[in-house]
Amino acid sequence: MGHRLTIGWLYSDLMNIYGDRGNIQTLIQRARWRGLEVRVLELGKGASEGIETVDVFFFGGGQDKEQELVYDDLLETKAIHLANAMQRGAAFLAVCGGYQLLGHYYQTAQGERLPGIGLLDVRTVAGGKRCIGDVVIESDAELGLQPRTLVGFENHSGRTYLGDGVRPLGRVRRGNGNNGEDGSEGAVSGNIFGTYLHGSLLPKNPHLTDLILSRALNRELEPLDDSLELAAHNWIKDRELSGSRRA
Ligand code: GLN
Repeated sequence: MGHRLTIGWLYSDLMNIYGDRGNIQTLIQRARWRGLEVRVLELGKGASEGIETVDVFFFGGGQDKEQELVYDDLLETKAIHLANAMQRGAAFLAVCGGYQLLGHYYQTAQGERLPGIGLLDVRTVAGGKRCIGDVVIESDAELGLQPRTLVGFENHSGRTYLGDGVRPLGRVRRGNGNNGEDGSEGAVSGNIFGTYLHGSLLPKNPHLTDLILSRALNRELEPLDDSLELAAHNWIKDRELSGSRRA
């Protein structure tokens, strides 16, 4: 049983907004708390050395202009390696702009269609009004998360529509989610998790962090004392669901 975790951080310099680097720190720390040695591989434009050793990829958010800067490299130097990684069971967490580019395409507000790498059967088209605010979702029962809820913050113009090849990460209880129409948020296919939840997401959702780590390592993880993290999680959930916060 390996005692090492390798995290592949895609475009850490360009796709890293609204505190998304907090997800990297959370993955590192929760792996270390289990006695694992952790290595972070920053996979910027043109970089693919060591990508075959990655256990879990993180692909953060970015504005349209950053997405326009990275999509060609994603297609030309990363796509084949990421497809191989998916085949060998690596885990992925992709947030917002990163999530969109793991799909078939992201069409910007100017109508430019940026091709994605199609690891997730989703399509995204930028809408008029931005979706901005706190989000609470009820995670898909198949994921077995306890608590069922996930909390985060969204800020996107993209409207993402799910194809048959994915299940939603969850259903929206507060916020817009994928498109503000069908009540879905995020997408899951195998060990690939896409979501609009910034925040950053993982610090206040330790149960999702452990699910991703467990899939990446292909093993159960011993439980930790998550009372502090879940107190933060519940504070936001209760505030948002009680409607005590005026929009
Ligand atoms: N540019 C994309 C959008 O506006 C993604 C934004 C983000 O990553 N927060 O939908």
